[in-house]
Amino acid sequence: MTLTSDASQAIEQVRARINAACIAAGRPIDSTGLLAVSKLQTTDKIRHVYAAGQRAFGENYVQEAVDKVAALSDLPEIEWHLIGPIQSNKTRDVATTMHWVHSVDRLKIAQRLSAQRPPEMPPLNVCVQVNISGEASKSGASFADAEALIDAVAALPNIRLRGVMGMPEPGLGEAKTREQYAALRIVFDQAKLRHTSVDTFSIGMSDDLEIAIACGSTMVRVGTAVFGARPARL
Ligand SMILES: *Cc1c(COP(=O)(O)O)cnc(C)c1O
Repeated sequence: MTLTSDASQAIEQVRARINAACIAAGRPIDSTGLLAVSKLQTTDKIRHVYAAGQRAFGENYVQEAVDKVAALSDLPEIEWHLIGPIQSNKTRDVATTMHWVHSVDRLKIAQRLSAQRPPEMPPLNVCVQVNISGEASKSGASFADAEALIDAVAALPNIRLRGVMGMPEPGLGEAKTREQYAALRIVFDQAKLRHTSVDTFSIGMSDDLEIAIACGSTMVRVGTAVFGARPARL
C-alpha cells in the first residue's frame, strides 16, 4: 500500500466487515470502533491511512511508538494507543506520549503511569489486559486477579479506566475463541457495573473481528487487514 486511495479502500473494506458483523449481531453499526494497528509499518503508510480518515492507531513497542508520535506530530487529530507489553523503565515514555494503553496487566505499571502522567495532559485511558488463553507465555492479568486490578486502576488519579483487553490463543478455532471471549465479557460487564467510566471491550483482530463483534467487542485492533503484511521485526 503506497497511496491514500489504497488506504481508503483497505479501511472501507474493514469498515464493511465491521458493519456487517454488527448487523449480524443485532448491534448498531457504530457500536464497534476501529483501532488501526500500525506496528512495524512506516510513518508514510500511517499518513495515508490517516488521510483516508482513520484517527486511532495502535503500536506495540514503546520506542517505536515514541519515535512515530514525534514524526507524526503534525497530524492534529491522531490518537495513539499502546497495545504491547510495558516494562517499568518505559512507563515515563508511555505516560508522556500515549492517549490510551490497552496492556496494563499489573498494578505497579498502572501506578507508575499515573504518577508520571504530566498534569497538563488529560488522564491516560487504560484497559486492563487479561490473559484469556491462560498460556504462560502471554501477558495479561489472570482471571483470578483481574477484578482487584481493575478496581485498583480505577482509583488512580491520572488514569481513566476504560475497560478490558484480551487476545485469544492463535489458531484456536471459532468455538474455543468464543469461549475465551465470553469469559472476558463477564469481567467487562461486571467492571462496567462497578465503574461508570468503563465502556471499552478491546477484542478482535484481522482474522477474528467478526467473532469478537458477536461477543460484544467495542473496539477491534486491526493490523494486516488495514496495512497489509507487516515487515519482520529487526
Ligand atoms: C499485532 C496486534 C494486533 C493486530 O493483529 P492483526 O492480526 O495484524 O490484525 C492486535 N492486537 C495486538 C495486541 C497486537 O499485538
